[in-house]
Amino acid sequence: MTKSEQLFQRACGLIPGGVNSPVRAFGSVGETPRFIKKADGPYMIDADGNQYLDYICSWGPMILGHNHPLVREKVTEACMNGLSYGAPTEAEVRMAELICEIVPSVEMVRMVNSGTEAVMSAIRAARGFTGRNKIIKFAGCYHGHSDALLVKAGSGVMTAGVPDSSGVPAGCTQDTLTAVYNDLSSVEALFDSNKDQIAAVIVEPVAANMGVVPPKEGFLAGLRALCDRHQSLLIFDEVITGFRLGAGGAQGYYGIRADLVTYGKIIGGGMPVGAYGGRKDVMEMVAPVGAVYQAGTLSGNPIAMAAGIAQLTILKDRPEIYKNINELGEKLYGGMEQIVKETGAPCTVNHVGSLGCMFFTGQQVENYAQAKTADTERFARYFRFMLSHGVHLAPSQFEAMFLSNAHTEDHVELTLDLVRQALA
Ligand SMILES: *Cc1c(COP(=O)(O)O)cnc(C)c1O
Repeated sequence: MTKSEQLFQRACGLIPGGVNSPVRAFGSVGETPRFIKKADGPYMIDADGNQYLDYICSWGPMILGHNHPLVREKVTEACMNGLSYGAPTEAEVRMAELICEIVPSVEMVRMVNSGTEAVMSAIRAARGFTGRNKIIKFAGCYHGHSDALLVKAGSGVMTAGVPDSSGVPAGCTQDTLTAVYNDLSSVEALFDSNKDQIAAVIVEPVAANMGVVPPKEGFLAGLRALCDRHQSLLIFDEVITGFRLGAGGAQGYYGIRADLVTYGKIIGGGMPVGAYGGRKDVMEMVAPVGAVYQAGTLSGNPIAMAAGIAQLTILKDRPEIYKNINELGEKLYGGMEQIVKETGAPCTVNHVGSLGCMFFTGQQVENYAQAKTADTERFARYFRFMLSHGVHLAPSQFEAMFLSNAHTEDHVELTLDLVRQALA
């Protein structure tokens, strides 16, 4: 038995499924999760000493590569001053300044501890502001695991084959309406049948939790227009796209201004962090200024702020990083498209910038129903082939590949060679 297998066996007796987040399980790909000992740059090393080229990047946060020296230095420095105070710090002010400076639509921001919390809180603020209860989300978009949003919620639940979560009372999701991604008419219909009741539309501006599904031309602008017409708020869940598609996230990339934005992953530099922010008049609804209650004992934690500030500062000062990872994305995903064409494999490659996904379906994938036509058995075989050759992909057909600035053209070439062999 390998060390990973031994650790997994121990873990399974103690932790549900042996993992602290279901997306880490390897059940759907017929493998044992690799237990990671350390990571550096684009590589992860497991408990048995195997090295993997990593395309998960901690599900996005490690945009600079693992164990970036400057981020590590700032975290170490912060640790010397104590781990938490439960009182405000200058680092929180600096973090807020950075986010508001980089993202024009964010006039005020509140730090939280995860993307789930950020979204849950943004929804509450939107409901408080509008005095309405209903929200519209899209099938296949994931917005964390809070009760109201566990409806047609993408990868984790898709991979487990569970449509929705048990333990969520129907009352919690009765105000959650579901539309079809990339289909404005489905949104319009919901607005029409729920006149003056929609608090907000929440969307992943590039859907990245049902594989990768980019917004069609005009989709995001159409949502903006519908929200304006019906005095509803537009919430961009940029937990994945924020500070990844560019410093301005999807808002900057597509030129659409949302009323509220949620962040996580990248803004923590690898520490557990989330944030929500946006229009000042909406954010001033939040306690202690306004009547929308939201709190967090460890929110704005100094160590997490140190990591986040270090990472965001690097991203802000070095726009060439985005140029680099986007070009790498074009090479990697464009290369995969080429291989699919050459081999005639029934696959579809979707990508935006450094995010991409190869669906094992011959159909185009523009929404959840089309994503679900993917052959997960074939994906599992592909996954195992890549893993056995030292490439660690996310263990699900319905997850994105993430590139970091530590990946190089050589890594991309090596990966494409393996993809070619796998599809042949
Ligand atoms: C990961 C993710 C979340 C949830 O963030 P957590 O930090 O895992 O709670 C929310 N929205 C999107 C789009 C995500 O990808």
